[in-house]
Amino acid sequence: MNIILTGLPGAGKGTQGERIVEEFGIPHISTGDMFRAAIKEETEMGKQAKSYMDQGLLVPDEVVIGIVKERLGKADCEKGFMLDGFPRTMAQAEALDATLAELGRSIDHVINIDVDRSILMERLTGRRICKNCGATYHVIFNPPSQEGICDKCGGELYQRDDDNEATVATRLDVNIEQSAPILKYYNEKGLLRNINGQQDINKVFEDVAQVLRGQAQ
Ligand code: AMP
Repeated sequence: MNIILTGLPGAGKGTQGERIVEEFGIPHISTGDMFRAAIKEETEMGKQAKSYMDQGLLVPDEVVIGIVKERLGKADCEKGFMLDGFPRTMAQAEALDATLAELGRSIDHVINIDVDRSILMERLTGRRICKNCGATYHVIFNPPSQEGICDKCGGELYQRDDDNEATVATRLDVNIEQSAPILKYYNEKGLLRNINGQQDINKVFEDVAQVLRGQAQ
């Protein structure tokens, strides 16, 4: 099963992605996570990506396409994969098609988690993440029992560099503008499935799973 999971930042791709991976046993390939890992490891690519990410801008296509191509060639992708946060531009979508064609494969489903911009602003600026285990919280919607401390491991919570209000607004606008032609592209191929992301997390997953099991249109 070869899937693209899409939606604006904060739409819940991370949460739904984890569940899809668990339920369907395919690797979760998040370009954002790959860049954050590269920044942590202080690789050359990480340094390059950080300057764009801190401004809420997209990392250049050739950098992103390169890391995704390399990742899709790994053995664990043979049984399928779930792309999260990629493709974000038409050049990336076209490069993905070409890469998959070379491998004799294609995309089966494009799952789009749909959430209004105003709700995304609220969700993203209140997001806090555990430095130690990566668990995510929200200052209003999902606060930890003790402010600033992770319920799961006691680690310190922090706000991602790119989750401040100005950066979030830029990040959303860039994403809205860039995602429109991509959604159109997959819609024309008959692969796009819009899922209402403004429901309870479990209901969102139910809708996603129904599509992936071929029980819904
Ligand atoms: P995310 O965690 O998916 O919101 O990604 C965080 C940041 O990483 C984005 O704001 C971009 O700067 C960068 N990034 C992640 N995926 C891509 C992509 N497919 N194309 C360009 N930039 C990306």
